[in-house]
Amino acid sequence: MILLKSPTEFELMRHPGKIVGGAHRKVREAVRPGITTQELDQLVEDFIREQGGEPAFKGYRGFPASVCASVNEEVVHGIPGPRALQEGDIVGVDIGVKAGGFYSDAAQTIAVGAVSPEARALLDVTRGALLAGIEQAHVGNRMGDISHAVQKYVESRGFSVVRTLVGHGIGRSMHEDPQVPNFGKPKKGPELKVGMALAIEPMVNIGGHEVEVLDDAWTVVTADGSLSAHFEHTVAILENGPEILTNGAVPE
Ligand code: MG
Repeated sequence: MILLKSPTEFELMRHPGKIVGGAHRKVREAVRPGITTQELDQLVEDFIREQGGEPAFKGYRGFPASVCASVNEEVVHGIPGPRALQEGDIVGVDIGVKAGGFYSDAAQTIAVGAVSPEARALLDVTRGALLAGIEQAHVGNRMGDISHAVQKYVESRGFSVVRTLVGHGIGRSMHEDPQVPNFGKPKKGPELKVGMALAIEPMVNIGGHEVEVLDDAWTVVTADGSLSAHFEHTVAILENGPEILTNGAVPE
């Protein structure tokens, strides 16, 4: 069941969205060779709590941290730890916040120092695919228009979209209906309506789209070991078009 949000509820959702955006800005400033993913996690948790929010991922189905930190061939759901980032790595950081009874969720993938041209292209394409998807998030379209825009953007540039993980509705729960796949056909799927809040989140691989889960039961990696990137915004569908609720989470 898709839960539509009232203007008052969207007003409440702007608060956790703002915290998520601010936390991502902090992370971008902090990422450098030598920093550990655990240090990034601590910085984000402190910021979220200072701002009056709660880290939504911590304890979610037993997840032990406030951020997911996914390095290189890790797609999503990486667990922060003592791993120090190295020049040339890319690190995907996913942050969820609950505040005032509502959730917000966003992700970005960051270059650690100078990265290869191929890694740079992957980051640009994945971010571009997110923006292409958001452009379609308006009344009169269907979910398939978002999905298709993301898929077309990515595949026309020679990369692949992950199929087994999808975006989602969001509100009083972190994951609500409907699913927001990163592949699909235009004019198919649920109609987009005023009041929908969607977490749109392309996950893009340089190689094939297949993924596997590591023995830690969380970390998703590419099956072929190729690099992967992830960008995500929480978006409100309003009469006049989409409003990004997590501004700042993705570099302008
Ligand atoms: Mg999400």
